[in-house]
Amino acid sequence: MTERCDLLITNVHAATMDPSVSGAYGAVEDAAVAITGGRIVWLGPRRELPHCAADHNIDGEGGWLTPGLIDCHTHLVYGGHRASEFARRLGGESYTEVALSGGGILSTVRATRAASAEQLYRAAEPRLRALLAEGVTTVEIKSGYGLDLDTELKQLRTARRLSQHYPVAITTTCLAAHALPPEYEGRADEYIDLVCEEILPAVAREQLADAVDMFCESIAFSVRQCQRVIDCARGLDLPVKVHAEQLSRSGATAMAAGASALSVDHVEYISDEDVAAMAASGTVAVLLPGAYYTLRETQRPPVETLRAAGVCMALSTDLNPGSCPIASLRLMMNMGCNLFGLTPAEALAGVTRSAARALGMCCSRGALRPGLRADMVLWPMDTPDQLAYEIGALQPAQIFFGGRDVTAG
Ligand SMILES: [Zn+2]
Repeated sequence: MTERCDLLITNVHAATMDPSVSGAYGAVEDAAVAITGGRIVWLGPRRELPHCAADHNIDGEGGWLTPGLIDCHTHLVYGGHRASEFARRLGGESYTEVALSGGGILSTVRATRAASAEQLYRAAEPRLRALLAEGVTTVEIKSGYGLDLDTELKQLRTARRLSQHYPVAITTTCLAAHALPPEYEGRADEYIDLVCEEILPAVAREQLADAVDMFCESIAFSVRQCQRVIDCARGLDLPVKVHAEQLSRSGATAMAAGASALSVDHVEYISDEDVAAMAASGTVAVLLPGAYYTLRETQRPPVETLRAAGVCMALSTDLNPGSCPIASLRLMMNMGCNLFGLTPAEALAGVTRSAARALGMCCSRGALRPGLRADMVLWPMDTPDQLAYEIGALQPAQIFFGGRDVTAG
């Protein structure tokens, strides 16, 4: 390290989430962290800190520094809301029944097509702000409520525009294969032709997506149709992610692992063979306890099997108007522990290191170590276990985005 740095944080403990540092959180107690040019340049025990003159010094007041949180699976750009379906489901109808009667994803498609780009942007802002207030510094946003070329592009452009106005890195994913649009009723293969021949090539030309996603389920697309979307994405040099095995087992996980997918998301119904395939391919399992909770599902993802196989487990909100209208990644950490059996350390890894990997970004973020972006959150807490344990009162003391203090007002 050079003798000067932009920022030096001391009187702090670091939950580095770096697997090369021993202990559940990769903890460094009584640490010092030096930042220059938006990146961490030194991190270690304060007593080992080389002489460093900093432009700014921060006293962490004995709190804990964690990596900025990463929400790796959201659908937060959409029109309208589905509060009436919430009431119907409370009355006993299932998510699938609501979807088959013209509600579900298709009701959001109608509202999103009708909304202007400006209306979509204004509607998305409070959802994004809620995540940022909790210390989220990277968010993935999917399209998939357009299901036609113009609206898919409108959603993705809106997502990109958010990153120009808020201190957050936004990655975008094209989810045109989310549901069958009504005008293609009974012609799913023809809609997949549209996705592969028009929508994805246009999205790639405009560089509007960092990945391609699809929903493989009885109410969406078959394994064979999803394989076509994967082949198309690979032809465009875009990595893939798959919504799979949420409501039933389709076999999509094995297909996704065979294509070296970044992640398979939901995974409630995966088999032991699916888990082995994910372990072999290094595909991340993204757990979405908010959707499980909202839909009052009873089939838990096999966390013990995933853990034993060494599959990386990320946690995310799945923030969307139907199955998870909950803009709180911290609550997902709590649910990941209470509903799915994660440890508090696994929950924090799930929204940092593993979430970065689910986005193909683990070379730049998701942990605290020299060389990575200085996306960090300072928490006034005694132990990182509090992050999954406490909801509401425990708030970030300071949030850093690329080394810049972006703590809200
Ligand atoms: Zn989703």
